[in-house]
Amino acid sequence: MPELLQIPVWRDNYVYLAIHEGRAFVVDPSDAEPVLAALQTLPGVALEAVVNTHHHPDHVGGNLKLVEATGCAVVGAAHDRERIPGITRAVDIGARIEVAGLAMDVLDVRAHTRGHVAYRTEATFDRVIRHGHDGVATRAQRLEDRPALFVGDSLFLGGCGRLFEGSAADLHASMQVLSEQRPESLVCCAHEYTASNLRFAADVLPSHPSIRARLDGLERERGASRSSVPDTLERELETNPFLLALDPEHRGSIAASLDVPPGDIVAVVGALRSAKDRF
Ligand SMILES: [Zn+2]
Repeated sequence: MPELLQIPVWRDNYVYLAIHEGRAFVVDPSDAEPVLAALQTLPGVALEAVVNTHHHPDHVGGNLKLVEATGCAVVGAAHDRERIPGITRAVDIGARIEVAGLAMDVLDVRAHTRGHVAYRTEATFDRVIRHGHDGVATRAQRLEDRPALFVGDSLFLGGCGRLFEGSAADLHASMQVLSEQRPESLVCCAHEYTASNLRFAADVLPSHPSIRARLDGLERERGASRSSVPDTLERELETNPFLLALDPEHRGSIAASLDVPPGDIVAVVGALRSAKDRF
């Protein structure tokens, strides 16, 4: 019975621990200590692997210490292997891999960085625990029995990661890849940026009722966990402007709001990202 545990780390990072029959992997450990502390509360669970989405320090910072403490493997993108500390298993885009007994597909979501990948689990998670900063670990039953998408900084709830190394065309391509995943999937992103992203979304698409409703309900949604993450891809497809931009009707509204021509989707996505950078 796979379980998904969220671990709040540093200021606004989220690390995920996926557990299945006593075997576990951790996604993007910024720091080893909170992961080791979580494992101490889980007797009989062995960490088998670190899984990295990209090379940024707040995603790989705990790699070497976790390897030292547990002897776990480190999984990362083959085309970015030089930047993943301690990598032992370099995986290709499109590969079906198995980590700690769970099958996952490797997706190409380069844009935030040129090596960024996402992982999509085949299995669904029977128990999902949200745990935000200053919150308590809280079971999120609404989110259970769903597969996970470990998206790192490629997609956030209501937004997406900055373009550090990729182009607007890369961002458009990665949004296209993410939009095609199973809508019931959990978007397990690496930061709690939902509130500021939704404020931007409401600014760009002021008459979109779902965005306003999500923003207004956010405090209730976070509840005792103080975490809005993960949430479903289905919800992102309805409220995330970077995914809405893929739809011609919404793209028209976004383009009008940003004063750019609606015909060129890459230009619209690029302008949207630039506008968020300035927001
Ligand atoms: Zn990053």
